[in-house]
Amino acid sequence: MAKIDIDKNCCKGCYICINVCPKQVFKPSKKRNRYGTNMPMVQAEEACITCRMCERMCPDGAINVVKTQSKSPKEEAEEVKNEN
Ligand code: SF4
Ligand code: SF4
Repeated sequence: MAKIDIDKNCCKGCYICINVCPKQVFKPSKKRNRYGTNMPMVQAEEACITCRMCERMCPDGAINVVKTQSKSPKEEAEEVKNEN
């Protein structure tokens, strides 16, 4: 699990993050940044594998990925049970 933040004061809307993410976590949004370009938005945070490719490739250091605590085995078992 991860928490992903995009700093709207740094992001210039180049969409490198959208292109490098192997899990399609980002998509373009209608929200404009201070440059007047459209920012990316996080559409599937739960799909993030915390590879940090987006953090490394963002030319403006606008992305921060924080790995959050993993679920306990009991919580994961409950989730699987509910899916079936
Ligand atoms: S790579 Fe960085 S600057 Fe480019 S759109 Fe993504 S967050 Fe914004
Ligand atoms: S850390 Fe990896 S999987 Fe997660 S949003 Fe960034 S590029 Fe995508």
